[in-house]
This record gives sequence, C-alpha cells and structure tokens, in this order.
Amino acid sequence: LVSTNRLHKFYGKNHVLRGIKLDVEEGEVVTIVGRSGSGKSTLLRTLNGLESIDDGVIEVDGARLDVDHADGDTLRALRQKIGMVFQQFNLFPHLSVGQNVMLAPQVVKKMTNAEREGIARDMLSRVGLAEKFDAFPDQLSGGQQQRVAIARALAMSPKVLLCDEITSALDPELVNEVLNVVRRLAAEGMTLIMVTHEMRFAREVSDKLVFMHEGRIHETGHPQEMFARPATPEFANFIGSLN
Ligand code: ATP
Ligand code: MG
Repeated sequence: LVSTNRLHKFYGKNHVLRGIKLDVEEGEVVTIVGRSGSGKSTLLRTLNGLESIDDGVIEVDGARLDVDHADGDTLRALRQKIGMVFQQFNLFPHLSVGQNVMLAPQVVKKMTNAEREGIARDMLSRVGLAEKFDAFPDQLSGGQQQRVAIARALAMSPKVLLCDEITSALDPELVNEVLNVVRRLAAEGMTLIMVTHEMRFAREVSDKLVFMHEGRIHETGHPQEMFARPATPEFANFIGSLN
C-alpha cells in the first residue's frame, strides 16, 4: 500500500534521510523508533508531502511522487490517501469539535452539509466522543483533543494513518485513552505508520518495527524478535537506553 525507495532528504548540508526503502502492506501496523534526530518525523512528513524529497520515490495506493513529479496534483493525490496526527493536536480553538472534524472532508470533497455532519458524528463516535460534537476544544482534556484530531484525520477516509508521537504531549494518565483508540483502529484493519516512545504499546500492536539510525533503516523486523535478539549493536544500545 505504501512504499518508498531510495528516499533521500537534505536540510542544507544535513543529510537527514539516507536512502529509505520501506514497504507497508494494507492493514499492517508499522512502528518507527530511534534516537532523537534519527529522521523519524522527517520520514513521516515526506510520506504525505509535507516535506520535499531530494531523491527517490514514494508510492501510496497507486499515487506516485518522485523528484520530477511533485506538482500540486501529485501532492493532492498523495495527501488524499494519507491522514496524519501530530504531537500537538492543532485543533482550531474558535471552532466546535464537530466543525473541526467537518473541516477535513469539506476541503477535499463536494458534499452537502448534512453529509459532512454525518461523517463527523460517525468519526467522533469511533473515537468515543460522540457527545462532544458541540463542545469547544478548550473544554476538552488533552487526551480528548487528541482523539478529536484522530477523528478529523479519519474523516478523510485515508488509506493510511500516520501518527507522530501523538501521546508525547499528554499527561501520563491521558496516554492510555489515546492508545486505546489507536489499538482499536489497528484491530479494525487500519494501516498505521507511527512513531512512538511507548515501547510496550509498540511491541503489542506492531506487525513490524523499524529502527532508524542516522537517517537509515538500521534494523527492521518483528517487534518481539527484535527485542529478544537485537541484530545490531546500535539497536541493542537503543533498547538498553530505554527506561
Ligand atoms: P525526535 O525523536 O527528536 O522527534 P526525529 O527522529 O523525529 O527526532 P527529525 O525531526 O526527523 O528527527 O530530524 C532529523 C534531522 O533533521 C535533525 O538533525 C533535525 O535537526 C533536522 N531537521 C528536522 N526538521 C528540520 C527543519 N525543518 N529544518 C532543518 N533541519 C531540520
Ligand atoms: Mg520527531
């Protein structure tokens, strides 16, 4: 469903992605881990066209982006297939929860207001917040706001959902309600690519673990096996530094 090949990204002289080859099947849950600065966020951001690439190719469900084909139409095609949730929820404070979720399909698709509202209500109930449709973001906890952000991403019916440390800004007692939503999406067959520091969660839900180190996929495999038998000293060091 998602594949990249020979993906390179520079920030000035900083060679941040050094030839990434990543393949994600439909329904697969892939978790990217690695030290700060290893390129995890940059990789996610290139996948939905938030960052330009300097070499290589990205394909998502038939939409193909490479250095020579990164025009507006290509980017739109890619973004329509990809939802993204960030560490900061980025909700519009002056809009109700329902309006925040309705905004997503509004931009992309031609629909009646009733259709948009129906989708927004469906997505809010998927994240357990049906009753918050008319509330405003500042009336919600951080965990609830992040669940609204997930609902907003789902409202575009993405083929794949990217999650970049979506629990890192939350108080510890709010982390689980958000992880539970992600757990449920995974069980429903949603294709997920996420970056997280929640290792227990990653081991439990991921089909594939990707360890990034200095802009490369240094080691990848099944999470349980990788934790039991790290194949590289760098990954062994990384898991040793956790806790
Ligand atoms: P963290 O775990 O801290 O979130 P990360 O693995 O997500 O780290 P990235 O944010 O992808 O790392 O950053 C990779 C490298 O790219 C770092 O050296 C960073 O300083 C650099 N970088 C990231 N974003 C930019 C930017 N917008 N402009 C310039 N350099 C950037
Ligand atoms: Mg990051």
